[in-house]
Amino acid sequence: MTLNIPFDNTYAQLAPDFYTRQDPTPVKAPRLLAFNDGLGELLGVKRAEDAELAEIFGGNAIPDGAAPLAQLYAGHQFGNYNPQLGDGRAVLLGEVVGSDGIRRDIQLKGSGPTPYSRNGDGRAWLGPVLREYVVSEAMHALGIPTTRALAAVATGETVWREGGLPGAVLTRVAKSHLRVGTFQIFAARGDAKALKTLTEYAIARHYPQAEGPMGLLRAVRDAQVELIAAWMSVGFIHGVMNTDNSSIAGETIDYGPCAFMDVFHPNRVFSSIDRMGRYAYSNQPQIAVWNLAQLATALIQQFDDPEAVVEEATEIVHAMPEMIEAAWLRRFRAKIGITSAQEGDMELITDLLGLMADGQADFTNTFRALMAGGARDQFLAPEQFEAWQQRWTQRLTDEDSPQDTMARANPVLIPRNHRIEQMIAAAVAGDFAPFERVMRALAMPFADEAEFADLRHPPAEDEVVKATFC
Ligand code: AMP
Ligand code: MG
Ligand code: MG
Repeated sequence: MTLNIPFDNTYAQLAPDFYTRQDPTPVKAPRLLAFNDGLGELLGVKRAEDAELAEIFGGNAIPDGAAPLAQLYAGHQFGNYNPQLGDGRAVLLGEVVGSDGIRRDIQLKGSGPTPYSRNGDGRAWLGPVLREYVVSEAMHALGIPTTRALAAVATGETVWREGGLPGAVLTRVAKSHLRVGTFQIFAARGDAKALKTLTEYAIARHYPQAEGPMGLLRAVRDAQVELIAAWMSVGFIHGVMNTDNSSIAGETIDYGPCAFMDVFHPNRVFSSIDRMGRYAYSNQPQIAVWNLAQLATALIQQFDDPEAVVEEATEIVHAMPEMIEAAWLRRFRAKIGITSAQEGDMELITDLLGLMADGQADFTNTFRALMAGGARDQFLAPEQFEAWQQRWTQRLTDEDSPQDTMARANPVLIPRNHRIEQMIAAAVAGDFAPFERVMRALAMPFADEAEFADLRHPPAEDEVVKATFC
């Protein structure tokens, strides 16, 4: 084997309470579908022959220095506590420290059963693998913290869902896979020692400035505040904000039934499994607070007298809604070209969003059109928008270069659902050209390239994607 991955594993050094050693299960005919050269370079993973990359990132060969393991965690799924989840179809190969000095996990997803698979097959099919590859890399290009995609490998095996589908393995890269649920499982077991170990580990790895469990809670809160505000600012709906999908490092993680909105509506839900709309677009801030409260509840269990820190933990959590609102306001101000703060800005923004919802305006294109002065066309009832535009124009007289502010805050391109679905359908039929094309386009989401003009369009009536599936 020629591929050298500079593994430097720390999680595997922790007590075995936190994981089970588990090798990936080999697949029939691994074939490399995609490899992220830029990310590979950052991680120190040099480009090798496709066949060799396929062997490793398909799970058939274990690279030197890897210590594959399935991580243990629990979590609240749609508000209900599940005492044991864990990596049911993923293994952590190990960690590397990138050329930027940041330690990251390299994980195979869809790599076969683990002790935590329950009834699952441990596998993934091509569709979700390519969706995560595209959307996570698009998220990164948008400047939003996220796990990333290093490789996609076809397995040559059939995965059974509603019918038979081509199998694939995704190589996911994350600052870590520590979740709120990683803390919850040990809190629920009353294991203060494990909680202390995890707390120290998380602080050393992500927030070396933080002091103690409450310092960690504050740091996670601050990271989640920025993350949620960033999602809201690009019309992103995560879809499964369970506590096991809530990252301690503050990254977007677990691209299941997620979606970017086309037409704006605050109550928008795509996920086919989110029947009550718990994770609707505008609920995301309050869900993030709820998830942080679960982390607080878990963290305090490591104190001899948890009651003594309840007040401090509560204060930390209770400060979060206002912090999200402030981060949200900062981002939405920028979206309409405002950098200073004035009374009435909040109303100006929420009035626009109200008009967008009533007028069935496309979220992404409306903000870009505002910048170009032509947003009228985006609304079903443009007269009301014109009244708003007058207020806005008045407000902009106090701003120096609103155009530049808006150009930086409003992407031209987002991964639109219908394009993702078309890309997946083509790939299943063996045509990867649309995948490669959207990857190229979404690498520069703020660039106004004529070549990719078609990717800006909202779906035609027969292209609309109403629901997304894991
Ligand atoms: P998620 O909803 O994606 O966060 O997944 C919830 C849990 O289900 C995690 O513990 C996953 O590892 C597990 N899981 C999801 N899909 C599968 C599968 N095909 N086989 C085994 N476990 C799975
Ligand atoms: Mg998950
Ligand atoms: Mg998932």
